Amino acid sequence: MFPSDPDVLVIGAGCAGIAAARSLAARGRSCLVLEGGPRVGGRAFTETASLGLPFDHGASWLHQADENPLTPLARAMGVEMLDHDSLRDRRLFTDGRLATHDERRDYATAEDAFWAAIDAAASDGRPDRPAAEAAPRGGRWDATVAHWEGAQICAAELSRMSLRDFASTALDGPNMILREGVGGLVTRLAQGLPVRLDARVDRLRWGARGVVAEGAFGTVAARAAIVTVSTGVLAAGGIAFDPPLPATTRDAILALPLGLLTKVAFRADDPALPDLPPFASLRRAVAHAHDRPMSFVSRPFGDPVLVAFCGGARAWEMAGDPARADAEARAEAATIFGTQGAAALGRATVTRWAEDPLFRGAYSHAVPGAQTARAALAAPLGDGRLVFAGEACHPRFAATVAGAWLSGEAAAQHIA
Ligand SMILES: Cc1cc2nc3c(=O)[nH]c(=O)nc-3n(C[C@H](O)[C@H](O)[C@H](O)COP(=O)(O)OP(=O)(O)OC[C@H]3O[C@@H](n4cnc5c(N)ncnc54)[C@H](O)[C@@H]3O)c2cc1C
Repeated sequence: MFPSDPDVLVIGAGCAGIAAARSLAARGRSCLVLEGGPRVGGRAFTETASLGLPFDHGASWLHQADENPLTPLARAMGVEMLDHDSLRDRRLFTDGRLATHDERRDYATAEDAFWAAIDAAASDGRPDRPAAEAAPRGGRWDATVAHWEGAQICAAELSRMSLRDFASTALDGPNMILREGVGGLVTRLAQGLPVRLDARVDRLRWGARGVVAEGAFGTVAARAAIVTVSTGVLAAGGIAFDPPLPATTRDAILALPLGLLTKVAFRADDPALPDLPPFASLRRAVAHAHDRPMSFVSRPFGDPVLVAFCGGARAWEMAGDPARADAEARAEAATIFGTQGAAALGRATVTRWAEDPLFRGAYSHAVPGAQTARAALAAPLGDGRLVFAGEACHPRFAATVAGAWLSGEAAAQHIA
């Protein structure tokens, strides 16, 4: 049963909303979580129906696991976790073959040079600028490293990202991977919380006397609200605020757009497929100026699955057309496994984060010049009666479940 007169409304039951609700409950504040969709977890979503095996449509790694607030929670619940970095068999392909030992060494050197250049430029005292301007160029592996660190990891090209924000939100290992999926973990962490599903908030009135959320579910009033919907939803006007948000908040939302990462997961049972080890990570070198390779992870937990990852502009171009994403991922697989190998791939599941009006993308990046936007978005409004939370609000672990979780906890502390 839901509280009839909640103290705090939490809008959205993703990681930030769940963390906020747990935090409020621990402090004895009554709250009601209004979730627009039919499930909890938001961009942490694991399902088994499509492939017959757990598949994380969104988050699959607990990055920077030693500092990640979800790591101890998962441990305490006895969740099976593996350190992906210690298992990952990295395979680099170039010109239709595996890279040689020397090429892999040169690639690693280019990666180190990339991060040294980014870190030096981010602290050189000059104004913020696109991260691409600081990235080394012209070397044999530079375009491949830039494509990997930008589109494939951050879901946006380095030219679209603030150098300072990119440098300060870069993540290290350990990267833990969960048998039950990150969505499975987060769903368990939401158990017992007062979450009302299928309750999309269309309008939020806020002022000195409190807040009122309105939607097809009716109206609910409270003393304060924590809004955790994505910046993609906010920028598209998914919630009408009355009175309108101040310019600093609106500018921060627009300066933190969502990038896009699309996964195409294939059943891979056919013995004609190459015998890849579990957790192998397959990357292909950028072959020419307009090449935007996908990458793959094979057989997570030994399961007969191959997952293709496509980030940035290429993912946006395929958005809304899963048949195209399926075909392009198969064509990419052919460049690595050969045509016969790729033809042996089974049915595919394509993630649909861009077209879902409850998300409108994958995760946020700051545009050039907007290195302070995350702090601006997280600043409480109306004497603490309206607070934004979510991955986009965290200055260090932005774009991740860790950032979302920590920002939800921080919002619960800030609430009036
Ligand atoms: C493909 C992909 C791969 C990723 N990989 C990783 C990874 O490996 N590791 C990692 O740490 N992170 C990863 N992430 C990012 C991570 O999933 C997110 O940063 C995090 O889950 C965001 O949580 P949140 O609570 O901020 O937002 P959300 O999860 O978006 O939660 C917001 C909630 O609000 C709801 N909502 C929206 N509009 C309304 C409305 N009007 N009224 C009510 N409810 C509404 C939504 O349904 C949603 O449940 C990935 C994301 C994607 C998409």
